[in-house]
Formats: sequence, structure tokens, C-alpha cells
Amino acid sequence: MLDAGLPVRAFFTTRAGGSSAAPYDSLNVATHVGDSPEAVALNRATVSALAGAPVSFLHAEHGIRVAEVTVPGEDPPVADVLVTRTPGVAIGAIAADCVPVLLHDAATGAVAAVHAGREGVRMGAVDAAVAALLDLRTPAQRRDRRGMAASIGPAICGRCYEVPEEMRDQVASRHPTARSVTRAGTPALDLPRAIETRLGELGVADVLRHRACTLEDPTLFSHRRDGVTGRHVGVIVCGVSVR
Ligand SMILES: [Zn+2]
Repeated sequence: MLDAGLPVRAFFTTRAGGSSAAPYDSLNVATHVGDSPEAVALNRATVSALAGAPVSFLHAEHGIRVAEVTVPGEDPPVADVLVTRTPGVAIGAIAADCVPVLLHDAATGAVAAVHAGREGVRMGAVDAAVAALLDLRTPAQRRDRRGMAASIGPAICGRCYEVPEEMRDQVASRHPTARSVTRAGTPALDLPRAIETRLGELGVADVLRHRACTLEDPTLFSHRRDGVTGRHVGVIVCGVSVR
């Protein structure tokens, strides 16, 4: 488990500490990857125990849809951004190479969990999350964006995420800092760097970026490396201060 470094309880899981057998070993939280439902249920219970509250896991569609969770443990609709302003509600963004991003707004106490893959970054999933948090502020609070903090979780890095040149150009036309090259010199995307840049542009001054690369680090799940594998989750709990 990696501490997200936010003012409320928030963390990113690794592969360690779960019940799943290979190739999902061991803390896989995804139900859609072919793992045993019993093992996934045990793993999700483990993650909820770490959170201290039942986690609502997002169902990603690689878009920018936002859903608000209001009941602890509620199964949310399909969306790539979950938000909550309800103390005691825990939300989780599932990923394995795509970028999980957690946000906290000190002005309201609201939190967000984002699944940001290539399509989500291109379309503005991070923008949607910040907008959703701003929507929960009063008009007076909206004039000053201070108070927002974000944590970017482990993801495939800009030296590993090879893509066709046309695809790189499509994303980089909106997010120039996404433009990257692999160690072999071929076109690549640096989604964590693009997200860090975009958060800064949106007025989120306090951004922590985890540098671990899912493809390079065997303690993390990587869809690009392994194909059939598990997923991690970035979890944030509304209203549980840790600092
Ligand atoms: Zn890498």
C-alpha cells in the first residue's frame, strides 16, 4: 500500500496482501478480468478494511462521466470519476497502467477518485473531476481555487507507454506534455506528466506524483506487460483526516 499523501485517508494498493492466485496475485480488485469472484470479494473486503469503510469501486468506461456516491459501499453507475461529499464514504479508482488520481478539496471536504487512461486524459477526465469538486463549493468559494490537492498514483511511464505516432499526436495536441518517446526512441505518451501539468493549469497547486512505473515494477499490476492480470485501486475516504 502506498500512502497518497493527502489530508484525508487515501492510498494506492499494490499487488501484495490479497487472496487471488496467478496471474491475478494477489490483491486484484477487478471483477471483469477473469479472476475468481470469491477471491475478488475477499480482496475488496481487505481494501475496505484498510480504508476503514466499505469502498465503492468505479466501473470505468474510458470517458469523463462523473458520478456522486452518497451511501457508504454503494455500487456506483458506470463513470470514470467518482466524487463524494458524504463523510464516511470511501471511493476507489481501479487501474493497471492507466492512471488513478485522487483529489481532496479542503474548502468543502469533498473528494474525488479518477480513472485516467489515454482516452480519459484526452477527453478531460481530470478537468471533469476538478469541475465536479468546484460544483460542490459555494459561489464565493469558487472564486479562489486554493485548497485543492491531488495525488497521482502508479501508472505506466512515458518511457514505456509506446503508442502509434498518430495516437500520440492526437493526445499531445490537447496535452503537449503527454508527448514522449520510449527508450528505443519510438513514439510514446507520458500520461502522469500530462495529468500533473493539467492539474496545475486548473489551479490545483498541491500535486503529489508517485513515480513508480507499473510496467517496470513487478510489485504492481501491468496490463501492457502481462495481458491477463489484476488491477489496483486508489482509495480516498471523505471526512477522515490524517494530518
Ligand atoms: Zn516505465
